[in-house]
Amino acid sequence: QAKSAGQSGAQYYSPEVGEATRRSTRLLHDLRLAVDREQLQLAFQPQLSLASGRAVGAEALLRWQTEEGRFVSPAQFVPVAEQSGLIVRIGRWVLRAALQALARLRAPDSRLRMAVNVSPLQFAQADFLDQVDEALALAQLPPQALELEITESVAMLGLERVTGLLHEIRARGIAVAIDDFGTGFSSLSYLDRLPADRLKIDRAFVSALEAGGGGARVAEMIVPLGRRLGMQVLAEGVETPNQAGLLRQLGCDEVQGYLYAKPMAFDALGRWLAAHPCD
Ligand code: C2E
Ligand code: MG
Ligand code: MG
Ligand code: MG
Repeated sequence: QAKSAGQSGAQYYSPEVGEATRRSTRLLHDLRLAVDREQLQLAFQPQLSLASGRAVGAEALLRWQTEEGRFVSPAQFVPVAEQSGLIVRIGRWVLRAALQALARLRAPDSRLRMAVNVSPLQFAQADFLDQVDEALALAQLPPQALELEITESVAMLGLERVTGLLHEIRARGIAVAIDDFGTGFSSLSYLDRLPADRLKIDRAFVSALEAGGGGARVAEMIVPLGRRLGMQVLAEGVETPNQAGLLRQLGCDEVQGYLYAKPMAFDALGRWLAAHPCD
């Protein structure tokens, strides 16, 4: 208690901090059980080319439904899994399961890719590249079928180490995307040194586009910024045709969002892909 009170800057015991700690301890306990019982699942959200309207791939997103039938958001449990180290085990499973799903859906001549979120701790594992190779081999997919999504928070692992690893990943033909760009501790000089194929514009900027004013001006600069740094740009959280139109004017390459498709279960993704033109 004393420790968490100190970290929060409170001088006296704070009931809120105690309650928050208890809740995350409970969450972690339930999450461990769910992992043991293989109760985590993946949802898949299509990604499309803005110019052609064709599907280019899908992003794998963790889903956890508790024994009581409640869905816990990954925004809530991924940070807890990250702090406890459990994300390493979960992440290894996500890589394998996501690629296996793609292998079952992808025709031999298809260029569809699967985007997998990678947490900084998972990325920092000495055997991370082996995990990736193994997951591709198990699914019998070429490296081009995989895209790894990292966030700017990998910066904490040290620039040299991170760029070295990213070079190795891309040398294999695996794509790298910078996720949630603009929301973290963005440093443009750092971004310039991260070897990546794609910049994912966070949903916050996509909605700011329509709002006008300063937020919109910043949002408008991200597409040219990404392109200038030699990356393709994908906008996430596209919800309205108006947003899509603005993104098209800005020269954005790819889109993902409720306007096109919500994250869906494996079977639904199979039906969705069958009904839409795909790369
Ligand atoms: P993310 O990687 O930025 O994923 C995009 C999030 O935006 C997803 O939330 C997705 O469902 C949501 N989204 C997509 N389109 C729209 C839209 O049009 N409107 C709105 N309102 N939301 C949209 P989700 O699935 O709740 O995931 C939240 C975050 O949890 C992810 O953000 C990612 O950071 C993390 N996460 C999910 N799966 C994994 C995983 O397998 N590993 C790791 N390390 N993190 C994961
Ligand atoms: Mg992502
Ligand atoms: Mg994102
Ligand atoms: Mg996000």
